[in-house]
Amino acid sequence: MDLSAPIQEIKGIGPKTAEILHKAGIFSLRDLVYHLPRDYENFQQAQKISELKPGKVTVKAKVEDISIRRMRRNLTLVEATLRDKSGAIRVIWFNQPYRAKQFDAGKDYYFSGTMALSYGRYQISNPSAVLADDYDMKASMAKIQPIYPARGSIKSQDFKKFMSTIKESIALIPDMVPNYAGRADALFDVHFPETVEAAKLGREYLATEELFSLLLAAKLNRDDNQKLRTQPISGDIEALKKFIKTLPFKLTNAQRRATWEIIQDMEQEVPMNRLLQGDVGSGKTLVAALSCFVAARAGMQAAIMAPTEVLATQHAETLSELFGEQLNIALLTGSTKHKTELKKHIKKGDVNLVIGTHALITDDTEFSNLGLAIIDEQHRFGVMQRQKLLAKANTMPHLLSMTATPIPRSLQLTIFGDLSVSILDELPAGRQPITTKIVSPNSTKQMWDAIERELSAKHQVYYICKKIDDKGASELSNVKKESQKIAHQFPNYNVAYLHGKMKPAEKDELMAMFSNGEIDILVSTTVVEVGVNVPNATVMVIADADQYGLSQLHQLRGRVGRGSDASYCYLINSNSDTPTRRLREIEHSQDGFHLAEVDLKLRGPGELYGSLQHGALDLRIATITDTRLVRRADELVKDFFKSDYKLSDYRELSVAVRKYQRITTLN
Ligand code: ADP
Ligand code: MG
Repeated sequence: MDLSAPIQEIKGIGPKTAEILHKAGIFSLRDLVYHLPRDYENFQQAQKISELKPGKVTVKAKVEDISIRRMRRNLTLVEATLRDKSGAIRVIWFNQPYRAKQFDAGKDYYFSGTMALSYGRYQISNPSAVLADDYDMKASMAKIQPIYPARGSIKSQDFKKFMSTIKESIALIPDMVPNYAGRADALFDVHFPETVEAAKLGREYLATEELFSLLLAAKLNRDDNQKLRTQPISGDIEALKKFIKTLPFKLTNAQRRATWEIIQDMEQEVPMNRLLQGDVGSGKTLVAALSCFVAARAGMQAAIMAPTEVLATQHAETLSELFGEQLNIALLTGSTKHKTELKKHIKKGDVNLVIGTHALITDDTEFSNLGLAIIDEQHRFGVMQRQKLLAKANTMPHLLSMTATPIPRSLQLTIFGDLSVSILDELPAGRQPITTKIVSPNSTKQMWDAIERELSAKHQVYYICKKIDDKGASELSNVKKESQKIAHQFPNYNVAYLHGKMKPAEKDELMAMFSNGEIDILVSTTVVEVGVNVPNATVMVIADADQYGLSQLHQLRGRVGRGSDASYCYLINSNSDTPTRRLREIEHSQDGFHLAEVDLKLRGPGELYGSLQHGALDLRIATITDTRLVRRADELVKDFFKSDYKLSDYRELSVAVRKYQRITTLN
């Protein structure tokens, strides 16, 4: 069967099943074949409970003291003790209530799962389980059983059946990467392994194949970029130095270095494509401002695009104050008045620097000579939006993308080839670390006391709550409810709330009030996450903190600790007794890079890039941190170019590479 054949052609897949699979992104035979097992059942190597070590474990044991608990938020816990002759261990299943009734007392079962320390004792979480007698009988037929990730109502067992049906097609699948034989064997071993080792090697082959497509795409993108030409901008270094001397503070070394790297890039004919990465609060805005100054001095226009109206407005205010009369700065957002008039000025070239939101890229916004485009919080924009901004220039402009979502160093080279990256790895002098604490919802007194102290010291507080609560109440009613509670608690302070559905003008007004101290406590959803800067705010409370990703928590926390006063971040855990690994990590580290690496390990790069870029990196098999496979794939890419292969001769490979080209491009 052709790999592109639709799954409906497979026996046993009717229209209903097909529909569910389509929703999961499985359309063709190829997609199905690449739906790989997430694990294997191999109960043959059961260990004694007394000899277990943390990690993947398999035991043959009886079940005792099984109980079910219903927690908040639709969470159920089934807990039990597993006992064999050597000892006992606790087991826990999350949201699998049927486990409570699954086991016959006195019968042996195989359990296979991960053992880890939780609150000082070891437990096995979410193990799979089978009746030992059943398994021992069947085991003589197939030694190792794949476990497939379920998709909707389609369970592992169903996928097993589908794979058996197409077993012969799998064995005949042609190689995809030139000079890299063994694809059919690899797929076969992954789906029908004889040994655990064979499955592992098969998976490595497929991971390498996947990395090859990604690396090839990155390389092609880079080559395309090198062919572009633009107007070089020669920096007036003397004027810049003079301007820097007028600043109320000294640049950090990192800011100095990044600015210098940018100036040098802009002097080239090949358009700059640089990513400015800096942890929250590292001072990216100033580097952007200095770059704009240089461009404007050379007679070119610059544009800064920010993801929210609040942020664009704040940037415009900051930069207007910074430059005074020296630059002509315009703010262009959805709620800007007299847009037509302003756009005329931009088109004529009266304006040096335009700061705005998506309003910058509407069709009727034209520039006279846009030379430098800056995208703040670049991961908030899609590829198309970035391209639209670049298209506003007569030739390709220089591009500076800024992000606080750190790309782990281990990923940079791999994914973006030799894309230039400047890193602000230093915070401005005088900053104090943010004290971070995990708070159980039942013991918040200390936190409120601390908040009281900060308020009476004339500092301000952010209180973040979730957009949607358990009962699906709206964002508005949620923030409203919380702010009423808090206002009741602190009658002498001004409490206000902010949410995503508010009109931009309203949001701006509130942010402005918070910024100049008229509001003491701002209750908000994550809309404040991006970029805003209120140095007098010293407390960040995040309710239901366990529901957010690590990077997002770090971003939110970064809203405080921006001035010279000590700051505090309280993470309220919605599940009172188990702080997640993520929460514990963020409690102990303030290093965005470290947290990104941890996030990468905990969630995989797909997740990380989900936030980095709208099109996720979408590696399904490989982990980019496996340097051994990355190196192998890199060699294959080099071979590919040496041997003068034509991508167009490899249909399937072209498809894969094109997907990654869209993902790995920064412009
Ligand atoms: P981010 O990198 O998160 O975008 P910002 O650019 O908003 O950070 O800067 C955070 C704060 O640090 C701002 O109040 C800014 O004025 C201040 N800042 C920037 N650079 C310096 C510096 N070199 N010394 C002292 N404060 C600085
Ligand atoms: Mg910023």
